[in-house]
Amino acid sequence: MKVIISSGKTYLNEPCNRCGSEKRVAKKWKETVPTLMGTTVIKHSQIVCMNEVCQMESDKMLLKEAKKRQDVKAVKEANNALRKANALTATNKARKNTSRI
Ligand SMILES: [Zn+2]
Repeated sequence: MKVIISSGKTYLNEPCNRCGSEKRVAKKWKETVPTLMGTTVIKHSQIVCMNEVCQMESDKMLLKEAKKRQDVKAVKEANNALRKANALTATNKARKNTSRI
């Protein structure tokens, strides 16, 4: 039988890269993903560090990163809106210049 993704065991064999503690599987779930050929079942496993403090730090970091990503996205969207507004102003100015000549 061919297993598409079974990363859990590999990860568990390696110590935590933050504190060197052992890791355990916190959650296992399967996801059915539609593909061109039909559907594929992807196995997921959430690996957490046995060291509670380390795991808490990791969770905090993940949250921070997610927040950062959201902020970056918001800034990008704001910049896009600004650029669009500027482009519009530039076009209007150009039009004014042309009509004056
Ligand atoms: Zn750890």
